[in-house]
Amino acid sequence: MTTIAFIGLGNMGGGMAANLVKAGHNVRAFDLSQDALAKAKSAGCAVVVSVLAAIEGADIIVTMLPAGQHVKGVYLGQDGIIENAKPGALLIDSSTIDIESARTVIGAADDKGLAMVDAPVSGGVAAAAAGTLTFMVGGSKPAFKRAQPFLSTMGKNIFHAGAAGNGQVAKVCNNMLLGIHMIGTCEAFALAEKLGLDAQTFYDISSTASGQNWSMTSYCPAPGPVPAAPSNNDYKAGFAAAMMLKDLRLASQAANSAKAAIPLGAQAEALYALMEASGKDDLDFSGIMKLIDGSL
Ligand code: NAD
Repeated sequence: MTTIAFIGLGNMGGGMAANLVKAGHNVRAFDLSQDALAKAKSAGCAVVVSVLAAIEGADIIVTMLPAGQHVKGVYLGQDGIIENAKPGALLIDSSTIDIESARTVIGAADDKGLAMVDAPVSGGVAAAAAGTLTFMVGGSKPAFKRAQPFLSTMGKNIFHAGAAGNGQVAKVCNNMLLGIHMIGTCEAFALAEKLGLDAQTFYDISSTASGQNWSMTSYCPAPGPVPAAPSNNDYKAGFAAAMMLKDLRLASQAANSAKAAIPLGAQAEALYALMEASGKDDLDFSGIMKLIDGSL
């Protein structure tokens, strides 16, 4: 039985930790939220009172936190994970964070002789609970190989994206593309409707023609054609517009530091920022349809 410390048991981490428990691991959970800890306890985790209590003697340490500042906060410094982890422990950060922070923290772990990977995920809360996440992993090949069996317990597709930080690169580029094609899909459906072509007929044609894309066929932002899509449930999230905006801001930050031009990514960020400014960023990210068709 492997002892796993799990830090950050929110919407995503709660389900992921529960799957590690189901696989027979001894999971020690720490979160700042009492509510998150209560849920972790009912899922079979041993609840502890601090990061240090969670990581003491742990073979594997997994973190699933909101942003780069939280990840740096728990890993770095005298009281941090890197300074206090058991020699030989493997560190896995599955949070979606900026690439620079990911590389800084993995570099610090490396300096201390600890193997660490960045392993952000694609797939939402339902995939975290079902153990069907996609993991995009950055780090050395040996570290990836060690992490793989544990990631397979929490996910379905596990990819080695290359060196430290490359998991975050894959995540941010994928989600920038998702934001862009979601908005493009909304524009096409809104225009079709205004020109007298109903959503279902346009879907039937475009989904088998060259406009076909994931936002259309798996997550159609116009109500009707894809029954399970949030558009048929008042755009209840799903993957909230606020989360998409977070990822687009990470993409902008990364593009600035790499001097890369992302004109459409920047436009997508500006449009999702309008959803935030309207106080509607708790809607699913496909709810940007309402901004595009003028009904927000
Ligand atoms: P969440 O806010 O529900 O959970 C984060 C948890 O971290 C909270 O319970 C919070 O109390 C805890 N936390 C914060 N600082 C802490 C600290 N110092 N020590 C211990 N616990 C601390 O967020 P989430 O939806 O679970 O997302 C987690 C990460 O996964 C984010 O980086 C997010 O971008 C990414 N992600 C989320 C989704 C999604 O659909 N929710 C999908 C893919 C990726």
